[in-house]
Parts: sequence; C-alpha cells; structure tokens
Amino acid sequence: MLKKFLIPFCLFALLSGFALAQNIAEDADNAPRPVKLVPPPPAGPVYIRCGALFDGKSDQLEQNIVITIERDRIKQVSKLSPPAGAQIVDLSTLTCLPGMVESHTHVFLQGDRKPGQYDAQLLKQSVAYRAIEATTAAHAALDWGFTTIRDLETEGAGYADVDVRNAINNRLVWGPRMQVVGRAMDVTGAYPLQPAYAWDVMVPIGVQTVDGVEGARKAVREQLSHGTDWVKVYADRGGRIHDNINDTIPTFTLDELRAIVDEAHREHHRVAAHATGLMGVHDAVEAGVDTLEHGNYIAPEDMKTMVAKGIWFVPTPYVAEYDVQWRAERAGTQPKESPGLKIEEDTFRRALQAGVKIAFGTDVGAFEWDMSPARQLVTMVKWGMTPAQALHTATIRGAELMQMQNDIGTVEAGKYADIIAVQGNPLNDISQMQKISFVMKGGVVFKK
Ligand SMILES: [Zn+2]
Repeated sequence: MLKKFLIPFCLFALLSGFALAQNIAEDADNAPRPVKLVPPPPAGPVYIRCGALFDGKSDQLEQNIVITIERDRIKQVSKLSPPAGAQIVDLSTLTCLPGMVESHTHVFLQGDRKPGQYDAQLLKQSVAYRAIEATTAAHAALDWGFTTIRDLETEGAGYADVDVRNAINNRLVWGPRMQVVGRAMDVTGAYPLQPAYAWDVMVPIGVQTVDGVEGARKAVREQLSHGTDWVKVYADRGGRIHDNINDTIPTFTLDELRAIVDEAHREHHRVAAHATGLMGVHDAVEAGVDTLEHGNYIAPEDMKTMVAKGIWFVPTPYVAEYDVQWRAERAGTQPKESPGLKIEEDTFRRALQAGVKIAFGTDVGAFEWDMSPARQLVTMVKWGMTPAQALHTATIRGAELMQMQNDIGTVEAGKYADIIAVQGNPLNDISQMQKISFVMKGGVVFKK
C-alpha cells in the first residue's frame, strides 16, 4: 500500500526539484541586470605622462616617465613620447606611484574608539545598512589612494564583506581590491558585546565564538566555505603595562591556535592574529600565524621567531595617537605622553632593526574613514623608517603579504594599472601621501 503512494510521490518530488533548478538557472537574457557604477577600462591604449615616478622597486624618483596602459594592465614604463593622436592622461606636474595597499582595515566600522560607537553599530544598525556604509568606506579607501585592502573582520556583520568584495569585483560599486575574513574568532566570554551587558540580555557578539580544538577546526571549515580569504583570530585581550611590557591575557590555548592555523593552511588559506602583548604575541607566533596585527609589545625572542618563520608584522601606531588626541580634545587638555605608545615605538624600532617583515595597516574604521590612513606613514618615518621604506610597506610589502606581488605593488609592465599621483616629492615630505590627486584602478580613472 505504501509503495503505491511512494513511487508517484518520489517522481513528483524529482520533477518539481528539476523545475526549481530550471527557474534558478536562467538564460543570459533573463538574468538580473544591476546598474554598474564602474565602467570597464578603455579599449585602446592610454598613456600617462608622469612628472616623476616612484615605481616601488627603487628608492628613487625617476623624472618624466610615460606609462602605457592596455585595458587593465601596464604595458610599458619608459621615457618614450606617446604617438601622435594617442589618448593621454597628463600628470606632468605630479609624482606617480603604485596604488597603495592597506593591510588592516575595517570597512564595516565607522569609528569604534569613542564610548558607545561600537555598540550603536551592532545594536541600532541592520547588517544591510552597515553593508551600505561599508561600500562608502570602500569608496573612501580608493579616494585616499588605497587600491587594495585587506579587511580584517566585519564586527558582527557576518560575511557581508564577501558581498562587498564581490560587488566591487563585479563593478557594481567603486572600491579597492579586497581580501576579507568575514567573522573573526575569539573564545567564549572574551569579545563584545557579550561581557558588557546583563547576563540575561541577549546581545550580538562581534566575532564567532570558538572553543576547543575540534570547535576551532570546524569554525575554520565553516568560515572558509562562505568565500573568505583569510582567517582572523583574537589571540589576546586586555593588557596592563609593567616593566615596559604590555602584558595581555591570552584568549585561545596554544592547542586551539595550532588547530586553527593547521586547518587554515590545510585549505591553503592564511591566518591573521590580533595580538597586542607579551603572551598573546608569543602564542600566536608559536602557533605559526601568518601575520601579526598590532604587536604593541613583542618580546625579542618572539621577534627572532617571526624572522625565522617569515611572519609579517602589521603595526598600527596611528590609532593609539588618535586616542591620545581625541581624549585630550574632549578633556580640553594637552595630549599626554602615553606609556603604551612609547612601548609601541620601541617595538617598532626593534622590529625594523631585527629585519621583521613589516606591512602597512592602520585599523582604519576604528578611527573614522573621513581621514586618510596614509597619515600613519608620518609616524613610521618619525619612528625610524626612511620615506622610501615607509612607502614600500604601503605598496610592494603589502602586495607580498597578500601574495599579490605578481599583480600589484609596483609600477611595472604586466601588473594591474593601479596608479596614484600626488603633488611634490613624497620622499621629501611623506605627509603628501594624505593628499592624493589622481587614482586609477585596473586602467579605469577613479579620481582626477
Ligand atoms: Zn582591527
């Protein structure tokens, strides 16, 4: 009796499933057709006449350079004049550079350092609204001359960064090339908003809560299945200063961190670790993460391990300066000398000395997107880098961190035509990098 119904039922289910699949797999004529704000690159060759060029390979400027661009790539960099009648972009009063690379951004944050800012975004804004704001932040990044960014978590907005990245790649909206992490990972009880509200009030948490070795592996698998590029962990929290050391509370156990790194590497993805102090940094470095974020204090032994393992250091000094500044403004006092900032400076100088690989990243989004992250280059020069070294961290070094050095990071034949220009000579005055006059991404002029 059961069989009699079962066979027709199965046949019906099969056919209706097929019909549904037919409905989703629409032909090209019926496909949705969104408005695309970004045009494709011009079909014919374009010649950019640069007054000077910092190509990202050498430490010097070269005068009077012509960059030939075909579609989205650089064809030639030379001193030859463009042919008669050619399509020319005249930047002969400006210095051209490779588009900058920002290795630590948060497009889903519009400021989180001041009291209440973070909570308001998670509690009062929908993910949809925050995604719209994220596209305006991405637009701002490009406007500041950053043609590539690594965005290190959405802070409660799930995997919406994957969508922003894809929308940019599909030319729907203007923005830099993006690598994204979706949700970061932290252990139970360590990340806002949960510890900040009454225990019986349900609030969102800015990360994915992950506990235990098995939980860690599962979380990596789950996150990567949603199309993220990197995995990010919070390796420590809190912190108190003693004996010129920033001493933090490690979050994950070393076994948990190792499981996260191993699982990510097994799937050919890499791990970024937020770690600001002694033991957090130590555990992250021991576990073999690929990039160390902030690293306000790094012990000399851990620095050696970083060099040996090739772990990147992404120091973020500007955000601490920003804190000192706004707190003084709010209190109506002069900015106080910050012991934390002194430790950061010392760590930065030691890392430079030790030959740790350093890439430029600021944590922008923690401070608002209406100021250029390039202001941090000034701090990096103040703390001992040459202007050329600082520019390399924000171009070719960032490209290497993202394993995109064959496509971006220098102005060279074969790479994407990601080119920016400024007035004057940034090797004499690095603050010029905050005033970008021209931005081209992939052969398309965004700002002129
Ligand atoms: Zn961050």
